[in-house]
Amino acid sequence: MNNHFKKTIILSAAACAALAFSLSGCKKSYHEEFSETSAAVSVEEGILTDAETNVLPNESTTVTNSIGPTVPAANTGSQAQAAAPAPNTAAQTNTVTETKAAETAAPISFQSRDEKVYIMADDVNIRALPETGEVIGKANTGDSFHRTGYSDKWSRIEYNGQTAFISSDYTTTNVVEKKTSEAVAFNTGWEFGSNSKINSGSATLYYATGSNKKGRTVCVNAGHGTKGGESVKTLCHPDGTAKVTGGSTAAGNTHATAVSSGTTMSDGTSEAYVNLKVAKALKNVLLERGYNVLMIRESEDVQLDNIARTVMANNRADCHIAIHYDSTRSNKGAYFMSVANGIKGMYPVSTIWPESDRLGANVISGLSSNGVKIYGDGSMQTDLTQTSYSKIPFIALELGDKASDYSDSTVAVLAKGIADGIESFYS
Ligand SMILES: [Zn+2]
Repeated sequence: MNNHFKKTIILSAAACAALAFSLSGCKKSYHEEFSETSAAVSVEEGILTDAETNVLPNESTTVTNSIGPTVPAANTGSQAQAAAPAPNTAAQTNTVTETKAAETAAPISFQSRDEKVYIMADDVNIRALPETGEVIGKANTGDSFHRTGYSDKWSRIEYNGQTAFISSDYTTTNVVEKKTSEAVAFNTGWEFGSNSKINSGSATLYYATGSNKKGRTVCVNAGHGTKGGESVKTLCHPDGTAKVTGGSTAAGNTHATAVSSGTTMSDGTSEAYVNLKVAKALKNVLLERGYNVLMIRESEDVQLDNIARTVMANNRADCHIAIHYDSTRSNKGAYFMSVANGIKGMYPVSTIWPESDRLGANVISGLSSNGVKIYGDGSMQTDLTQTSYSKIPFIALELGDKASDYSDSTVAVLAKGIADGIESFYS
């Protein structure tokens, strides 16, 4: 925050608001993460449907046995089997004699295997039985299994101590590395995306790779750190209405700084540097606990304004936490920017604000449980740009102020406390 802010609560709030403007958020992680996978599955299903349509007629006409070139089409998809069991059966057994016979499901012939196979796509179903069996798990790129049986369509594998089945289409005996991260670019087509003015930078989505995957993505947003952000103005609210509380930009304004510079710690270190230090520590803790992490900023500068950060989080994360320090000098303790009453009826705030405040309360509780000093009751209503654009639970955290310690040991405690709060939020 700016040095001219006084130490009064109101001024602090203003400072926080300023910080909040610089903050960005985390949001749609899980669904986005698997969007590609889902698409892949859909394609597969589509193929199967086609196969079904094409194969059935052939089958009824071909009253003979051998499957021939026509059968492979039916083999392509697992869903096809569900819809048209006959063609699949025929493919597996090579003995389709007539349509009625084909309609009776027959067991799949598996070639015995004793090998390790890798999965080549995300979100691949693991079923208790082939074809329409219950989905008992999901496999992602780079996951590996012991395969005991193989057919063109289905592979029999060992999964959590039991026999399970997975589409052979997504398996290979060649080693496939697990996907550990990917760059996330801004998409101006995302909702509110056109309100962003600085969005040429990219964030990074890190995937949890352990066996404790949570299937959720947390956006960790190290506040500030956008060169040139001070000289650009963006709309405070998506609908163009004016701010209802003060901050780095006073109440009543419709436009605010795209990304402010942040405050300076008592030892001269920039707040942006300390925010990033905490963000990196939090990222590691969350990945260890099985959460995917969308890191908005990992260096001194990222060309993403507060709206871009928030919209990115909305589309690629499940929740969004912006890390900040206040501009006071009293070592006041931590608190979060709760949603201001004046914007609770405004879209999209109206759709998510109770969850944002609940996330904040859980995180403050997590910090407090780890011995972190809390300021007041741990919250302060503030109208932040990022709050106004968030469609997923979002909080701007003020972990302390200029006088706060940010040694490695303290930062480790802060990261643990925030992670504990997130776990509590999702429990
Ligand atoms: Zn800040």
